[in-house]
Amino acid sequence: MRYISSRGQCPAVDFETAVMTGLAPDGGLYIPSTFPRLTEGDLKRLQDASFVEVAATVLKPFVTPSLDEQELEAMLDKAWESFRLDTVTYLRPLQDAWLLELFHGPTFAFKDVALQLLGHIFDHFLAKRQRSATVLGATSGDTGSAAIAGCRGRKQLRIVILHPHERTSLIQRRQMTTITDANVTNLALRGDFDDCQAIVKELFGDPVARNEYGLTAVNSINIARVLAQMVYYVQSSVQLWKRFGQAIDFCVPTGNFGDILAGHWARVMGAPIGRLVIATNQNDILSRLFEQGRYETDEVSQSLSPSMDIQVSSNFERLLYELGQGDPHWVRTQMTALYKNGGFSLGEAATDKLRRGFAAGRCDDTQTLAEIKKTFVNDGVTLDPHTAVARAVARNHQTTAPMVILATAHPAKFPGAVQKATGQPPTTPQALKQVLDGEERFEVIEANAQAVRAVLQGLSTATKLG
Ligand SMILES: *Cc1c(COP(=O)(O)O)cnc(C)c1O
Repeated sequence: MRYISSRGQCPAVDFETAVMTGLAPDGGLYIPSTFPRLTEGDLKRLQDASFVEVAATVLKPFVTPSLDEQELEAMLDKAWESFRLDTVTYLRPLQDAWLLELFHGPTFAFKDVALQLLGHIFDHFLAKRQRSATVLGATSGDTGSAAIAGCRGRKQLRIVILHPHERTSLIQRRQMTTITDANVTNLALRGDFDDCQAIVKELFGDPVARNEYGLTAVNSINIARVLAQMVYYVQSSVQLWKRFGQAIDFCVPTGNFGDILAGHWARVMGAPIGRLVIATNQNDILSRLFEQGRYETDEVSQSLSPSMDIQVSSNFERLLYELGQGDPHWVRTQMTALYKNGGFSLGEAATDKLRRGFAAGRCDDTQTLAEIKKTFVNDGVTLDPHTAVARAVARNHQTTAPMVILATAHPAKFPGAVQKATGQPPTTPQALKQVLDGEERFEVIEANAQAVRAVLQGLSTATKLG
């Protein structure tokens, strides 16, 4: 398998290079050059296969020749050991839909599914290159913990995560700072999230620092994350196909478009998936695109579903490439207009194409709380605010096809919203309670690049990774 850039100005690469590089050198996103079809035989066999078996079948063509079958299987065997369910995910029936619970991993959110595997993949390629690397990232609170959980204890990797001091929730901070493996460093910066992000950007922009500390990122545009997420779409759709004999619709709480793109790619591979419904909160760049055919940035507004509070959906560029018939020049024109003028129009042909495979809707905070309450009363199930956004939007797109709603976070991560909606706090699982009791380790530093450099310098001289 070769990976090409959505902007078409750099050579195609193999899986290893695409994963280790992240963003393509021309600023584009890597896309598989072809999508192998699952055979009738595969689809039937996978109906009763385990998550790891589905992953092996789905991912094999995408990692060849960078990984051979044994290497891939060895990684898959270990990847989801940290999950609390042997099945990794769980398909829970509701009265008129299905919840695909993806939050049974170490940080109680769906990003664990991909990041737990990514940690192993990075480690493998680094060991092969006899190198180590430092994952550097900034978090406003909710995505840092999944990255830390994916990298902790990996031999060739160190991870340094910046968060704004005293500006994250208690649970968010403790999910990061109670992980005390030697290769994990949490830095609390005396500043806000924008300061943290600016410092990370500055360090990545400095070739000397980048090289000296072996800086790398695990952000949501990494191709391995999207590929790993295809696995649960394939598995749940073939299981429900076996039961209902018809294509399955999915409604996905969407921010950066990585999760729903994985659903689309699973559909392209031949998984029995009908319509994919994009659910946004009040940060609704994608639902506005559906209504107006125009992709236009807006200010980010804080909502009850913070992991979907985005200005642009970075992975959308990968779909854009397909909507533009694989013409990288067209993609570059649109992206230039986005940066220069804050938006672009899709045009009729691409808008039609988009509407054929997808639908979209938005749900604001008031509707989110109402949905948590409604599902609590009618189904006896507590939803987190992200999942509630998807369920509320799904109600407007229900047809005769079975509908799966992706449940992306555990409700106990959002006790405030749940309490407000239902009048009672969510039940907190034992593993999350331990996070609230565990000992914390983090360093408070000034919010400037010099202070972060000093820490990186100290780490690289103190410990030589194996
Ligand atoms: C990241 C995240 C999302 C959005 O996923 P994207 O791939 O960015 O669209 C939704 N819900 C939760 C809980 C998340 O952490």
